[in-house]
Amino acid sequence: PNTLLLLCRGGFEGECASEISAYAAQEGFYGYPTLERNSGFVVFHVQPPANACELVETLRFRRLVYARQWFACMPQLEGLDSKDRLTPVSEQAAALPECAELVIETADTTEGRELQGFGRKFASALAPRLRQAGVLLKRGQKAAWRMHLFVISGTSMWLGVAPVRNSSPEPGGIIRLKFPASAPSRSTLKLEEAWHWFIPRKYWDSALAPGMRAVDLGAAPGGWTWQLVQRGMFVTAIDNGPMNTDLMETGQVEHLREDAFIYQPPKPVDWMVCDVVEKPARTTAMVIEWAVNGWARDMIFNLKLPMKQRFAETQSCLERIERALGDAGLEWKLQAKHLYHDREEITCWLSVGSR
Ligand code: SAM
Repeated sequence: PNTLLLLCRGGFEGECASEISAYAAQEGFYGYPTLERNSGFVVFHVQPPANACELVETLRFRRLVYARQWFACMPQLEGLDSKDRLTPVSEQAAALPECAELVIETADTTEGRELQGFGRKFASALAPRLRQAGVLLKRGQKAAWRMHLFVISGTSMWLGVAPVRNSSPEPGGIIRLKFPASAPSRSTLKLEEAWHWFIPRKYWDSALAPGMRAVDLGAAPGGWTWQLVQRGMFVTAIDNGPMNTDLMETGQVEHLREDAFIYQPPKPVDWMVCDVVEKPARTTAMVIEWAVNGWARDMIFNLKLPMKQRFAETQSCLERIERALGDAGLEWKLQAKHLYHDREEITCWLSVGSR
């Protein structure tokens, strides 16, 4: 396969394209992106002799901020005959590496969502056929690759593969979360999604443990604080606005009507989270101050995106953090993602010191 397909939020195709072009080049892969605005995906054409399978095996998927999912594709199947779509798809599949499972995906757009029912039906006809042909392994067997069928319409599809360990385990790269009825705001899902994406499940008990101390900057009405409280933490909520009363009654929250950019914790805490709507450069400077002073070990914060140059701006903020922490002689892990629940912002996780 010579094409790489990347899924993103509709309207962010430009950022996704700039990002893959830059990171692929850093790994020595050249190519060019093509995209249609608001389509929810980007096609990156890898220049031979390299191919897209090598690219998805080389570049770490977690480095990508704007791509929710990716897979190396065979040429686009177009003009499929509704009487027999299975044969051409199966023929292409024969050229792909052995896969553990088949995932059907559509773009995260209105048209894409309308195709999901068709996709599910098509998958239940296609999977047994691929298993019989041996391209798809029996249920429960493991393989390094996952097969992806990206449905554009009933007559147009892309078939490809992604490394199981270097792609999103979720269809479309979207972690499906249910809104908890007692949470004070929908923002609550942003923090929950961030934890799911950044913190492997096996570390939850140690990284999000009862009794830990957290500071929530720009906390009102308390969606993020609610998540911290659910994990049994004690939270200092900084905001001039009012906090949800049920949340205050848990006794686990102290509410301070202070400025998030001036507040300093009296002693170091385990977590600092920040959902304040501010210029990304100001949030970046604040995060650096927290990290360099050792005020928190783990931080989750949003960088609100500017109207233009969104990729360049987020890149420069992340680089500033890395440079400052490097200069301070610290060890850290920094990751960023344009999450499903993020709109004009990206979410970052910074962990300082070794775990
Ligand atoms: N994470 C919250 C939740 O889940 O309910 C929502 C936070 S809301 C997007 C941003 C909050 O930041 C607002 O409540 C606002 O009052 C607060 N805020 C803005 N500037 C601030 C500042 N300089 N210091 C403290 N809070 C600030």
